[in-house]
Amino acid sequence: MKFFDTHCHLDFQQFDKDRDEVIKRAKDKGIEYILNVGIDVESSKKTIEIAERYDFIFASVGIHPLDISDFKLNDLREIEKLAKNEKVIAIGETGLDFYYSKENKDKQKDFFVGQIEIAGKYNLPLIVHQRESKDELIEIIEKIKLPEKVVFHCFCGDKELAEYCKNKGFFISFTGILTFKNAKDVKEVARFYPVEKIMVETDAPFLAPEPFRGKRNEPFMVKYIVEEIANIKEVRFEEISDKIFKNSLSFFKDENDN
Ligand SMILES: [Zn+2]
Repeated sequence: MKFFDTHCHLDFQQFDKDRDEVIKRAKDKGIEYILNVGIDVESSKKTIEIAERYDFIFASVGIHPLDISDFKLNDLREIEKLAKNEKVIAIGETGLDFYYSKENKDKQKDFFVGQIEIAGKYNLPLIVHQRESKDELIEIIEKIKLPEKVVFHCFCGDKELAEYCKNKGFFISFTGILTFKNAKDVKEVARFYPVEKIMVETDAPFLAPEPFRGKRNEPFMVKYIVEEIANIKEVRFEEISDKIFKNSLSFFKDENDN
């Protein structure tokens, strides 16, 4: 079986001591591709550095909505420059997150729109982060031209948002949250969301799936999320893993290389 961890943060300091071992372990355990995702300019640069050292790791560049405070809108030009690197296959993560504060709503929206434009200009998939921001996010999406490929990462929205994403043809990707016993709503979304539009991610170092919950997450653990989707959808593990792997390939890699 082949797996594609479509979203993780190996550039974070949680991996400073053993980054290369973590990457080797992923490869040894059947992780075919990894997409490392930047959260600000520095992190995006580091992401590209890591991707340049490993042929099976790719990079996404962007500024996370919770990390915009130190940046000016003009700093997105820096992200745009990085986006031209050949290992960069997506823009993000970007989006809106009003969980901690609603004070910088307008600034978050500007950064989101700016990154949607970069993704459109370079024909790159867009990785969207959403938390407590459903209405405002939909408002922007309805107003602006989106790139062809959009994924709502770490999907933990409600059924209504899932229906919306489904109608729009968006992809959603599941993290270890899906394996948590109390994640009833997310499990329900996994049950009805079309398998052709599902991907998986660890979001490492956070959100380790069961049976590793509470520990540092890393890319090889992505298979436990696939296994959970197989259980929820009542299909064979091999079958669903093959489909999800192919979805991820066509979403992120099709016209870029191979
Ligand atoms: Zn993330």
